[in-house]
Amino acid sequence: MLPPSTEDYYALLGVHAGADDHELRRAWRQLAAQWHPDRAGVGATATFQQLSAAYTVLSDPIARAAYDWRRRVSGPAGASAPRPTAATSPPHRAARQPAPAVMLSRLCGSLSSLLACGAARLDEPGFITLVLRDIEAAQGGMAMVSMRVELWCPNCAAQERSVACARCGGRRTVDELFSAWLAVPPGVSTGEILAPSVELPGMVEPVRFRVRLRGAE
Ligand SMILES: [Zn+2]
Repeated sequence: MLPPSTEDYYALLGVHAGADDHELRRAWRQLAAQWHPDRAGVGATATFQQLSAAYTVLSDPIARAAYDWRRRVSGPAGASAPRPTAATSPPHRAARQPAPAVMLSRLCGSLSSLLACGAARLDEPGFITLVLRDIEAAQGGMAMVSMRVELWCPNCAAQERSVACARCGGRRTVDELFSAWLAVPPGVSTGEILAPSVELPGMVEPVRFRVRLRGAE
C-alpha cells in the first residue's frame, strides 16, 4: 500500500473535516497499527511521523481550531494533492504585489477607536469592514486593529466533560487581547477579504476583514 501523499491532516487520517474525537481516534489507531515502524519497517517512519503529527494536532481542540483556521485561509500547508474539501483561498492573492512595509496609521488602533472615527464598521455579519481611502487602497500597507477575542480555555477546553475551572469559570472560553496585523496589498478593492497575518492559537471564531473603498459609496 502506498503511503498517504498529502500534507492535509484530515486527508492523511482519511477522515472528513467534521470528524469527531471518536472517528479520529479510530482512524488513528488503524493507521498507527498499519504504519508503525515496528510493524511496517523503518521505511514507514516518515509516514508514521506525519500521521502522528496529524493526530496530535486534530485531537487537541485548541490546536485543531488553529489548524482549521489556517486551512480555511490558506489551504493545507504545502498540499500537493487535491484537497478533500473546497477550502477556498483568496482568488488573486498570488499574483499580487506584497503589502509595503508602511503603516496605514489611520487604520491602526483599537477596534472601538476605529469604529468611532469611521475607519471600521460592523455592517456585515462575520466581518469587520475596513473603510479605506482611495490613496490608502492604491498604495497598500499594514493595518493593525486590536480587540478582545474569545479563545478556547487553555486549561479545560480539551477535557471531555465540563470541570470546575478557575481560569474560565466553566465557560470553556476566555477573552484575550488580540492585535490583528493586516497586510493590505496595493490596489486592493471593495469586497476583498483580509485575514490577519497571525492568529492566536485556539480562537473560537476567525477574525476577518472586508475592504470597502470610501470612494465606492
Ligand atoms: Zn477553563
